[in-house]
Amino acid sequence: MITTLTQISEESQPLVPDPVSKTVLMLPKCNDNELPLDTNGNISKSEPTVEKIEETKEISDISDISDVEDNVENNNNVENIKDNAESIKNEKPLPHYEKYKFLFWEFETPVIWVSVFFITLWHVLSVYMCCTFPLFDKIPLVIYATIIGGISGFGVTGGAHRYFTHKSYKARLPLKIILLICYSVAGQNTLYDWVRDHRVHHKFSETDADPHNAKRGFFFSHVGWLMMRKHPEVIRKGRMINLTDITGDPLVAFHVKYWFWFKLFFCFVIPSSIPPLLWGESWYHSICAICFVRYVISLNSTWAVNSFAHFFGNKPYDNYIRPAENLTVSFFAMGEGYHNYHHTFPWDYRAAEVGQMLNVTTLWLNFFEKIGWAYELRAPSSDLIQRITRNRGDGSHEKWGHEVPDTYSCPVATEVRKEQ
Ligand SMILES: [Zn+2]
Ligand SMILES: [Zn+2]
Repeated sequence: MITTLTQISEESQPLVPDPVSKTVLMLPKCNDNELPLDTNGNISKSEPTVEKIEETKEISDISDISDVEDNVENNNNVENIKDNAESIKNEKPLPHYEKYKFLFWEFETPVIWVSVFFITLWHVLSVYMCCTFPLFDKIPLVIYATIIGGISGFGVTGGAHRYFTHKSYKARLPLKIILLICYSVAGQNTLYDWVRDHRVHHKFSETDADPHNAKRGFFFSHVGWLMMRKHPEVIRKGRMINLTDITGDPLVAFHVKYWFWFKLFFCFVIPSSIPPLLWGESWYHSICAICFVRYVISLNSTWAVNSFAHFFGNKPYDNYIRPAENLTVSFFAMGEGYHNYHHTFPWDYRAAEVGQMLNVTTLWLNFFEKIGWAYELRAPSSDLIQRITRNRGDGSHEKWGHEVPDTYSCPVATEVRKEQ
């Protein structure tokens, strides 16, 4: 853990900015023979020091905001340990799985065939409906389905992701209710599961504890992880994640408790009933458009962040991590494809430094800030982004990329890039 404060030195490079303590974790500088990576190719965190970063408006503004992710390490460790100790008797033991074999394939954990069946069924039916859909006769329905897709997308990106998981801004009650309803329209997992899985994903990225560990392959990171039992490490690490903000919020707890009904009505029943009732659309086509095609496209847009954005794209902010900048994903996922940036600065409400035109979520959050429903939106200073980029980026940053960082020529950095 962080123990000392040192002055900024040439021999160090920043790893992770911590907005709460206003510090940056520092690693030894990467020389040709001296590398800040452990034997597994991961960044070594064995002897980090802490450097005081220059205070900026952005940083000082956010310093008093409780950050749930940071709280896991900073404030609530003791509480967590106590809670864990008290609940340990009630906790189910971790499952132990042998390799699961099916025909020619071998899986780490057992396949959940019910999930395989329904996910496949929904996709096959959606493709059939797409192929037989009278597109030009149903323009109002297509526009309506696109709007519903946008609403559900905002529930995931602006709600579950940037607000509930990362606490990158604060929301007043009306916006909070809007976020919960929009998230219901998306019809994914309960908010509790979503937040826990995503916090574990950030904290233990590309390890066995990552629910959609991209090292297990593209298909697994995209949708396969929803078709299989969780790796025991995912469960173990998931239990260590602080979720008291979710369980302790009566509104969210209510939403989680009655999730089945929220999902049923807001994702399927209400949106598919509006076109027939409002302008006499056929029930069949409305259900096709809303309950299948829109739903499947929305799901895949979210999943693409875990797959495409962990496989394809450049890494201007941190070359040592797998997440990359992917504009196509950003288009479909309303600004969530700037994933190298997001994993470097997960507490930035924009989830991106550039490309605001594709970042529809940010445009909406800026609007809600204007009317006062969103406030204390968090973002790093340009100076901080520049420092991190110059030290750890792959040299592709449009502004600071011409200065190839020292680490870029580092042999192990090259190996890491190849491996990724
Ligand atoms: Zn990710
Ligand atoms: Zn995130």
